[in-house]
Amino acid sequence: MPHSSGGGSHGGGFHGGSGFRGGRTGGGVNRSHISTRPFAGAHKYYYYDRNRIKYLYSDGTYDNQTLKVSFIIAILAFLSIFAGIMLPFLSELNNEKIDSQFDVGIVIEDNANVLGDTDEIYEAFEAFYEETGIVPSLVTLNKSSWVDTYGSSFKKCAYDAYVYRFTDEYHWLIVYSVDDNNAENFVWEGMQGVNTDPVLTQGATEAFGKRLHRNFESSEYSVDEAVVEAFNYFTPRVLRGFIDSQSWGLVLFMLALFVFCIVGFVLAIVRTDKLKGAKLWQQGYREISCEDCGRACIVGVDRECRFCGAQVPRH
Ligand SMILES: [Zn+2]
Repeated sequence: MPHSSGGGSHGGGFHGGSGFRGGRTGGGVNRSHISTRPFAGAHKYYYYDRNRIKYLYSDGTYDNQTLKVSFIIAILAFLSIFAGIMLPFLSELNNEKIDSQFDVGIVIEDNANVLGDTDEIYEAFEAFYEETGIVPSLVTLNKSSWVDTYGSSFKKCAYDAYVYRFTDEYHWLIVYSVDDNNAENFVWEGMQGVNTDPVLTQGATEAFGKRLHRNFESSEYSVDEAVVEAFNYFTPRVLRGFIDSQSWGLVLFMLALFVFCIVGFVLAIVRTDKLKGAKLWQQGYREISCEDCGRACIVGVDRECRFCGAQVPRH
């Protein structure tokens, strides 16, 4: 069964062919917690910072080397998760020509009489077929010929136009309809056979459809020129592949998350570096101001002031 490859209507913009697919998994990194405020289960540490004594609270033991190693492991883990998530999108890239097995024939059918030069369309379609193995076709309709049967469901009309003409799944049919008395007012829909899916991916049909729709809306192009321009743009790029807009959002999200994690790790390392010189605060320690110079000393640690050498009380 063919399915929509996207379409649009005059003034209504382009709509994509099918829904979202794909998913993602999250990764987490466990680490011990360091804080400048006390918290449950934390040990208190102290270190000298110029004139002052500073405190840190932590529920783990710190060893900078271990942290750096776990940092590297976490980056590698994250990269592999990243690659895993990106793989389905990368599979949309660098596609191979489809073996359509039999030459099923290009159809150009101008029922609405809106196509000027069909030779150029034929040429563009041939080039696309040579490149991809997919057989593009174009049918134009007057609105009056289908509106009684299909009402507002032009997509259904395009579907029937496909299955009426083709029994294979290698065609890509673009159905373009105009109002009988107002050629400006158009609606179009692409229908692709399922065997075209590996090449006509969501990203590819979205890129093509947006361009074609823009051409249809533009006063610069006639209908046939719009189609030819879009195919001439699309054909040399289609096998390289396109990533669709939703996937781009995910790619950017993952990159942002990646940068966020790296910044987090760097901050953690910087913070742990501080702790390298920190010592465990023992019971009975007490911070006092030096009687002579007023700077901070610790009773139980400092025998004499680190600045002026004055005696620090033992208790
Ligand atoms: Zn002193």
